[in-house]
Amino acid sequence: MTPQIVRTVADLRAALAPRRADGVGFVPTMGALHEGHLSLLRAARNANGTVVLSIFVNPTQFGEAADLNAYPRTEAADVALAAEAGVDVVFAPSVAEMYPSGFATTVSVGGAITGTLEGAERGRSHFDGVATVVAKLLLAVQPDRAYFGAKDAQQVVVVRRMVADLGIPVEIVTRPTSRDADGLARSSRNTRLSPGDRAVAAAIPRSLRAAQDAFARGIRDPRSLTDTVRAELAGLNPEYVEVVDADSLAPIAEVERPALLALAVRVGPVRLIDNVVLVPGLDDRIPLGPNGSDHA
Ligand code: AMP
Repeated sequence: MTPQIVRTVADLRAALAPRRADGVGFVPTMGALHEGHLSLLRAARNANGTVVLSIFVNPTQFGEAADLNAYPRTEAADVALAAEAGVDVVFAPSVAEMYPSGFATTVSVGGAITGTLEGAERGRSHFDGVATVVAKLLLAVQPDRAYFGAKDAQQVVVVRRMVADLGIPVEIVTRPTSRDADGLARSSRNTRLSPGDRAVAAAIPRSLRAAQDAFARGIRDPRSLTDTVRAELAGLNPEYVEVVDADSLAPIAEVERPALLALAVRVGPVRLIDNVVLVPGLDDRIPLGPNGSDHA
């Protein structure tokens, strides 16, 4: 079934009014759908009577105009994939629908969780943009459950904080990072990598896997773990490589409870992010396929 495509909040509310009884699951995206998005849609399909997908390239979370302009926009293909995934309603608003003239409100999540990692590198305006658009989308859709990918781990922490602080009645569900055979996290931006860039980018999952291997050997010191990552990324000059507490995102002296190992690195024209969670007592290493190094 082709999903119903709506472009205004009024039409979205009208489409959802008769469909709320069996639960509404919501997957917010910026489009250019790939398997990572589809894994979120499958989870939503399994647990809800109605599935809503939003496609909105949110200008307020982009720092660089060039990145915003180059962001892939593939709505027709996205709608076809959404149909296959059993999406009921696609909400694809214009920028003017989301930010009409006179728009003056920002939802800003403060503190350490937005000041570190992506917030430190991209500036506070990035997560202000994310929190504001996610708040607006949650108010527009009013879903029972909303689905987010672990690839954007800090985004999930920020969204959970905002939902708790504002009392937004929605369950936030996180799904694991979907990866290609060589381990590279799927991303809409990967389409802008040349074949050469793509081969270079495969060092990212290798580097995280090397740290996971070190962690499995008992290394608990953040500096040793990030050094292991940097050694594998030699020549790539990452923007950051950090090990922080998985919940508070605060710096830690030693991994004693779940920790987030996160990095950002530019490859060719694209800025890529990736992460793994290191959990004492749990071995959950990235499988590296035929094109990745075998660290096993
Ligand atoms: P985006 O369209 O990149 O803004 O992403 C929309 C949602 O899909 C976010 O919750 C992302 O975390 C999630 N997502 C993006 N890439 C992946 C991936 N490789 N695996 C799982 N979820 C993903």
